[in-house]
Amino acid sequence: MTQYGFYFDSTRCTGCRTCEMACKDYKDLPETTAFRKVYDYEGGTWAPSTDGAYTSDAFAYHVSLACNHCDQPKCLAACPQGAIAKDGKTGIVSIDEGKCIGSGTCVEACPYNVPVLDKESKKGLKCDGCAARTAEGTKPVCVEACPLRALDFGDIEELRAAHGTTAGIAPMPSPDETHPNIVIKECAAAKAPGDKTGTIANEKEVTGVPA
Ligand code: SF4
Ligand code: SF4
Repeated sequence: MTQYGFYFDSTRCTGCRTCEMACKDYKDLPETTAFRKVYDYEGGTWAPSTDGAYTSDAFAYHVSLACNHCDQPKCLAACPQGAIAKDGKTGIVSIDEGKCIGSGTCVEACPYNVPVLDKESKKGLKCDGCAARTAEGTKPVCVEACPLRALDFGDIEELRAAHGTTAGIAPMPSPDETHPNIVIKECAAAKAPGDKTGTIANEKEVTGVPA
């Protein structure tokens, strides 16, 4: 089996949301739904020093996330209908809409805030790694859309060989929870998963709560 996954370069990402918008367009999603979300993580403070100047440890960076097609997907384990499956050839985790009863259990279970419950169809929805595109050898639409080339997708072992094994930066949870198939290049400001020195500055945006 080839396990597929995403690569995200936080040294390149400017937080422009082109990846998110390209996905929404390709998947024809309603305005309140996104399969890829860009988190703005910000923190730090400033303080006066004795010479009248000010020092600061303020930081801000972006994290673009879709489904991580985890090795131990909590969404799959929690679904009471057995409607979520991990593909035996690609490792892609997807929801069978025919089996889904819209309980929203996967939405609650995923520590990455990935599945969404469609209000009209009452079905759980999420990123499937653009399975139709990748079956034809094309990258997911978010990867091709990124103007900064901050995203990639492919065999996770090849991505790890090329970029290392970091699988989480704040505000992501510890990778120990689900063993996500993602590789991250950390920017200089990046904090470890579980960091409490910053906050998600666009929380309403990423949780879908109307402003
Ligand atoms: S398109 Fe690229 S640079 Fe823009 S938010 Fe997405 S990953 Fe970051
Ligand atoms: S990121 Fe969430 S939705 Fe995707 S496989 Fe992991 S637990 Fe499931």
